[in-house]
Amino acid sequence: MRSVYLDNNATTRVDPEVVEAMLPFFTDQYGNPSSAHAFGSPAGVAVRRARRQLQALIGAEFDYEIAFTSGGTESDNAAILSALEVMPERTGIVTSAVEHPAVLTLCAHLEKTRSVKVHRIPVDRLGRLDLDAYKAALSPRVAIVSIMWANNETGTIFPAIELANLAKEVGALFHTDAVQAVGKVPMDLKSTAIDMLSLSGHKLHGPKGIGALYIKRGVRFHSLIKGGHQERGRRAGTENTPGIVGLGKAAELAVQFMDDENTRVRSLRDRLEKGVLKRVPYAIVTGDPLKRLPNTANIAFDQVEADGMLRLLSRYGIACSSGSACSSGSLQPSHVLTAMDFPRSAAHGTIRFSFSRHNSEEDVGRVLEVMPGIVEKLRDMYCSRSPGEEPPSGPT
Ligand code: PLP
Repeated sequence: MRSVYLDNNATTRVDPEVVEAMLPFFTDQYGNPSSAHAFGSPAGVAVRRARRQLQALIGAEFDYEIAFTSGGTESDNAAILSALEVMPERTGIVTSAVEHPAVLTLCAHLEKTRSVKVHRIPVDRLGRLDLDAYKAALSPRVAIVSIMWANNETGTIFPAIELANLAKEVGALFHTDAVQAVGKVPMDLKSTAIDMLSLSGHKLHGPKGIGALYIKRGVRFHSLIKGGHQERGRRAGTENTPGIVGLGKAAELAVQFMDDENTRVRSLRDRLEKGVLKRVPYAIVTGDPLKRLPNTANIAFDQVEADGMLRLLSRYGIACSSGSACSSGSLQPSHVLTAMDFPRSAAHGTIRFSFSRHNSEEDVGRVLEVMPGIVEKLRDMYCSRSPGEEPPSGPT
């Protein structure tokens, strides 16, 4: 059976060209990029090239504004913790209610262990940020705003550039977790007030365990990881040369494929959404219909559990994700759908289909072929109520 991979917001297939670019740095060119001899210098040259490839993708003014890290989680942690260190007189953090756990878990920890005040800005039913609440939370007590560029579950895009301008008015640093946006949304950071931006290799057909933090020139920064002087003292530890080279190549390819992402990939996604809505009753697309990542379709199916749908889809060779996390036997809707105040009966049955440049019309056709039968079968099995009715209150 042909498999269909539609879970690209979780991780992507490493591009064969990326693998090819990385291989020599495991074999012949194994030198330490910081060494001055004949083994070190090709590695050093390769790391510098990767920095420029990334600079081009995100429109940074200078290549040294990029510090390589182990991925999105480390970049997010490094940005927020640095801000609290360089501005000890400020103890506020502004973030959103729908951030990735890389930000939300750290904020909750800081709230518990330090005298830090965290403002979590709510979103509406379409996952759009409450701009009035955001403006109200900004004050000279805020050290950093950390708000994602695009949401990993619904694909909703936040107005990062406008949010950064507002943060500047109160002298706060502005960081954005752009792990899902980089490579899908054109960026020109040099013309923005964004101080720091996180990205991750494995979301853009690069390897896992490598990422970067963009730190605008002039922004004071304290390294999260203390040690040697690598990455201009902003991230200690011998550089992951193969990973960095892979990320650089992935960035170069992302520049080439950006148009494809916004035309062909978007039209595959739209075809899937329209096809599902036409064939399956009581289904709706979540997130902002206008400002959404071109590759993400998060669809809520009323009166059916995501868990069952995922299992049956998997039997047909189709891989995707749910907006629910299975904990101790009960499916809890994700914090994103909860923050959107999504009706529980639909939040429990939310499936995320996320595309990449490796997907085809055939993949869409396969999902459309099997989805109506899967939903109908599960609704018949689990549902004694009619679709559209509210479920009884209390835990399910
Ligand atoms: N931020 C967002 C929005 C993500 O989607 C992810 C990964 O799922 C991360 C951060 C974490 O990135 P990494 O897996 O590179 O640590």
